Amino acid sequence: MMNGTNDIRKTFLDYFGDNGHEIVASAPLVPMNDPTLLFTNAGMVPFKNLFTGAETRDYVRATSSQKCVRAGGKHNDLDNVGYTARHHTFFEMLGNFSFGDYFKEEAIYHAWNLITKEYGIDPKRLCVTVYHEDDQAFDLWKKIGGFSDSDIIRIATNDNFWSMGDTGPCGPCSEIFYDHGDHIWGDRPGTPDEDGDRFVEIWNLVFMQFEQMADGTRIDLPKPSIDTGMGLERISALMQGTHNNYETDQFKRLIDSAETAIGKRANEETIASYRVIADHLRSCSFLITDGVLPANEGRGYVLRRIMRRAMRHAHMLGANDLVMHQVVPALVSEMGAAYPDLNRAEALITETLKLEETRFKSMLGKGLKLLDEEMSKISTESALPGDVAFKLYDTYGFPLDLTQDALRSQNRVVDVDGFNKSMDEQRAKARAAWSGSGDAGTDKLWFDLKDELGATEFLGYSATEAEGFVQ
Ligand code: ATP
Ligand code: MG
Ligand code: MG
Ligand code: MG
Repeated sequence: MMNGTNDIRKTFLDYFGDNGHEIVASAPLVPMNDPTLLFTNAGMVPFKNLFTGAETRDYVRATSSQKCVRAGGKHNDLDNVGYTARHHTFFEMLGNFSFGDYFKEEAIYHAWNLITKEYGIDPKRLCVTVYHEDDQAFDLWKKIGGFSDSDIIRIATNDNFWSMGDTGPCGPCSEIFYDHGDHIWGDRPGTPDEDGDRFVEIWNLVFMQFEQMADGTRIDLPKPSIDTGMGLERISALMQGTHNNYETDQFKRLIDSAETAIGKRANEETIASYRVIADHLRSCSFLITDGVLPANEGRGYVLRRIMRRAMRHAHMLGANDLVMHQVVPALVSEMGAAYPDLNRAEALITETLKLEETRFKSMLGKGLKLLDEEMSKISTESALPGDVAFKLYDTYGFPLDLTQDALRSQNRVVDVDGFNKSMDEQRAKARAAWSGSGDAGTDKLWFDLKDELGATEFLGYSATEAEGFVQ
């Protein structure tokens, strides 16, 4: 198939390769040069030091298809999966980058040329946003894309102004949207509280032209740079004539494999669960490939949460056997050629998924039963009491977000303050029960560390996470 996801990725890399860009392999999901970032969440992350000038390489233009995970910290799309047509926890970001080489005009030209000529997308379906002060981008879109004024939407919010952090390179963005048509519900970009899947953002261009100084001033960068990001699954969807990422070739095969493993075909009511399983299988497999293993803290806990969420969906679909590992061969056959590490890690992925699912399976059934019983005891408006959510966490291994996810379809919520209170009480009890080493200072240090690292949410990172991503 010419429009297969693998072809679309290749067309992108070849196009920019032919235009003088170094084709750079995806960096791992665990950022190598940035301990403040939970996972690589944008194509520019591995190039950060080239944008700041801290590092130079023998090329000034690059292109890549970068593995990204947005399932924690500042960019968290976990709750979108299964609900929107365009979000994944794991996705590939196609990008082209200029490190002080070409700037706005060439970036807009290439984006336009690639999507309308190489990919052959109907220009009438596209509209763009620019930062409200960026007249230059506005004029370039008119000139290059032939847009009328009304199809270039000026946005005044930070959605269209990118910065690397409190200081450093920053600048306006321009986003390219595709209109999937009025049979799909959704607002035009720039509408307050815009929502829905009708207008899907496919490509984000960042024009790094300023440097934010510590004293609050902004100066012009002597050599402005370009950072762009386009979601491979989104461009694949529209090239394959569907508005939903989960109906593209690769996702269809993953869902098909999950259906076989579960022994049922998806229907309108159950499709969201199959999508969650396919999505989470991808993020878990790629995280394991890059050295993350399930754990009770840090990155490993994010992985465990994703795995367990998927397992709950498999359980709801009535799966008797372990499901997740059965979908791994389909993933490897779809993506192993583009990501050879995945082939090498196949046995590790399979064993890790099997072990986690085996461990969690009996707890899951019992915990869900308890959850049902507790929910039937309270009125349909009340939140699930925090101590029950805590019991599910502590005794049955239910991450808080799993319980929240389970209640969401019934429009119910958890009393999170109550949950945190139970958590604090248990910590206090553990402290009191500790006979101690006799050295109060050391004991305090250990408990503080345990509190910090054992936190159920990944606060250690999200609190400090740098803005290393395209917006
Ligand atoms: P959205 O507004 O749709 O959430 P975004 O503005 O958060 O997207 P960027 O940070 O600009 O996304 O990332 C660049 C591109 O990566 C987006 O234009 C989109 O094509 C793709 N992308 C972003 N988040 C996801 C996701 N969770 N799943 C799939 N593709 C994504
Ligand atoms: Mg987003
Ligand atoms: Mg964006
Ligand atoms: Mg956006």
